[in-house]
Amino acid sequence: MPTKRVALVHYHEIGLKGKNRSTFENQLVANIRRTLEDMPVEHVGRISGHVLVTLRDDSALAECADILGKVPGVARVSRAFKCPRDEDEYCAAAVAALAEFGDFESFKVHAHRSNTDYELHTLDINRLVGEVLCEAYPDKKVEMHGPDAQVNVLVIQGDVYVYAASERGVGGLPVGTAGKVVPLLSSGFDSPVATWMVGRRGAVCVPVHFSGRPMTSDTSEYLCQDLIRQLAPSGCVGRLYVVPFGECQREISLAAPQSLRIIMYRRLMYAVAERIARLEGAKALVTGESLGQVASQTLDNIAATDEVVSMPVLRPLIGSDKQEIIARAKSLGTYEICCETAPDCCTLFMPRRPETHARPAEVAAAWDTFDHDAMVERLLASAEYVDFGNCPSYRPPRSTRPFHHELAPAFPER
Ligand code: ATP
Ligand code: MG
Repeated sequence: MPTKRVALVHYHEIGLKGKNRSTFENQLVANIRRTLEDMPVEHVGRISGHVLVTLRDDSALAECADILGKVPGVARVSRAFKCPRDEDEYCAAAVAALAEFGDFESFKVHAHRSNTDYELHTLDINRLVGEVLCEAYPDKKVEMHGPDAQVNVLVIQGDVYVYAASERGVGGLPVGTAGKVVPLLSSGFDSPVATWMVGRRGAVCVPVHFSGRPMTSDTSEYLCQDLIRQLAPSGCVGRLYVVPFGECQREISLAAPQSLRIIMYRRLMYAVAERIARLEGAKALVTGESLGQVASQTLDNIAATDEVVSMPVLRPLIGSDKQEIIARAKSLGTYEICCETAPDCCTLFMPRRPETHARPAEVAAAWDTFDHDAMVERLLASAEYVDFGNCPSYRPPRSTRPFHHELAPAFPER
């Protein structure tokens, strides 16, 4: 068997999960298979603490490695050579591995055996490969502490894997190992990042977007779909619900005191999102709020909105600065999409001076100026959904099984 190119996927947190380890590893393998569906992949399988991806076309390795690095649960991806246990072959692979590493002045060899039936000890392998590399790169230095490049030689079962090029992945846990959540997704910078963050921790995400329709255009609905497609390599979003919210906002703006409008909109959004979460079997809501970022994100206002739901509301960005959130949005590629301005319900019927420290009694009184329970039912009845086929562990609720590529009514029977 000649030397082949493979991607070697490393993970670490999974190792900590004791008995659950194989469930986590199987989920990671399933997610990787789905993510690489359109790539020339021959096989994805587990080998001794790694996931191994073999290719039908070596030239696709760099692209595959890039995609793999975005899959939650992947700590590191190495572009490796898979060789037989043949000294000449794996030494030649080591020379090639170092050649594609990029610039370096110093290097070392690190050998590891997961099978002890190979006659050479790791020290022997280090020496053997090291000598060949010194000959091939006479002007480079061997450096045992902090070298620029490390050539790894892993003996696993009957094969030897050799690599130097290795990139960090996003880390986290495989999607599907942490249950299901419902993020409130606007077309702003924060909520797509918040969605991705809980997805990276293994949660299947089923976002809900409240659009200004029919009072505004449906542009924000399409921006949300673009955002989800941009997050596709993470495989964390199964489905998007869209709720046309404009008419209810208009009614609230006529009934409730101006300064409390935003809190009223938020409470209604939370209440609807919680109902969708229950239908979906999701166990928490997620928002992109960050403490004090805007008027509605003070502790008093957060408390005033949380009051209407009994589910936990996760706020992964609560302690993040805008700059950090924007940096993450840029690295995820969601930033550019969010820069396209779309009127959504956020821009509709906004008060001139929103309340920053809502008092519970006033909030309760404002909440009763309109029939919020009937509104929740109406909003649910008008909800629509669209499915994204990139989350292998997403299971839709029985009542909404059919797959839709375009927005379709979610609960027509209501
Ligand atoms: P974002 O950038 O996520 O829009 P923001 O800084 O604009 O956040 P707010 O508008 O106060 O902040 O929204 C706070 C959170 O409420 C958002 O992060 C999001 O989770 C949720 N949210 C706001 N508007 C909507 C919407 N139209 N549909 C769904 N969720 C929303
Ligand atoms: Mg917003």
